Amino acid sequence: MSLQELLSRLIAFSVLGGESNTSILLWIKDHIESQGVATVWVPNATGDKASLHCRIGPAVDGGLILSAHTDVVPVKGQDWDSDPFELTDTGDGKWYGRGSCDMKGFLACCLAVLPDLVKAPLKRPIYFAFSYDEEIGCLGAPELITHLQNYYSETPKYALIGEPSLLQPIIGHKGIGLYTTSVNGSAGHSSSIRKEVSAIHEAARLILWLEDKMNALASESVDERFSPPHSSLHIGLIQGGIAPNVIADKATFSWDVRVIPKDKLADIIAHFETHCRQRERELQSLFSDFKIQTEAWHAPVPPLDTHKEQDIVKLLQKINPNSVLGTVPYAAEAGQYAAAGIESIICGPGSIDQAHRPNEFVERSELDKCILLLQNLCREFSKNQ
Ligand SMILES: [Zn+2]
Repeated sequence: MSLQELLSRLIAFSVLGGESNTSILLWIKDHIESQGVATVWVPNATGDKASLHCRIGPAVDGGLILSAHTDVVPVKGQDWDSDPFELTDTGDGKWYGRGSCDMKGFLACCLAVLPDLVKAPLKRPIYFAFSYDEEIGCLGAPELITHLQNYYSETPKYALIGEPSLLQPIIGHKGIGLYTTSVNGSAGHSSSIRKEVSAIHEAARLILWLEDKMNALASESVDERFSPPHSSLHIGLIQGGIAPNVIADKATFSWDVRVIPKDKLADIIAHFETHCRQRERELQSLFSDFKIQTEAWHAPVPPLDTHKEQDIVKLLQKINPNSVLGTVPYAAEAGQYAAAGIESIICGPGSIDQAHRPNEFVERSELDKCILLLQNLCREFSKNQ
């Protein structure tokens, strides 16, 4: 199957983050197994989603994992010039379709080089690891990484995450956590505001506290590799109240924290929680059921902070013509692989500028370069160390 056919088959599966990905994963599994490679299916708890991994080459330490996600972001409300779930080749060197760039282009490259990998006299193994629900918070990867580490008797050393980076080796990204905070106050006539606890007023104070926290972090710790060069906190959704003359007893707001590698997300959350407990103590004299509760949307994604001296950087510089190291503002599965003790780097075809947008495309030349990179990897791993 040609690269174009592979990509077109992958794009035709309209699996969004949060939806069952078993259709696309079964197709990938069959395709890999048709090349004589055994795969391992890693289902989620309810069995409606799964990750897949496989090994090509010997069961020895020092292998490299090629990581991709099978889900894409929605197209709803976007103005596309073509069917987003059909690969469109307009003859301008670009292939259009949802996921062409993020990140089915990389997935197609992995599948395209599989016959070469199978034939090569690999001395170190190369693994495929394909996850689900990356686009809604990198939800599938932790389970997949644990499974990989437990399943194989040998220890993989590296992970290459093929997120779009124009094939620049990316050694750093911020971590992220998403939260919803609910404030339980007391209802009443607005004229009684001195006697009641407005959930909206209190939510507003908490939001300003979070903004002050960001400003404090910005003055305490910076990392110039990122823009902005500090951890950021942002409230993107607020709800509560029923009328201007009714004191709101409920208010909720949802927010995210994006941390630079040297800041600890857990410390930021712990500081906020301490402040919330203090506010509860202060206001419970007025209303005994006053409460502030914060819940995480999912496990936070840790930051990526690969150092220039690590072996994976040297490896990438050997097999990839683009050796200028970079960082990215988005969070990815790379941080999760790194947190599991696997040296990780992001390096994939296409530009993040095209990801998640209408008329998403990947340049054919980017995919060709990616194939070359993977073939160089194959050659490198076929050498005696
Ligand atoms: Zn992606």
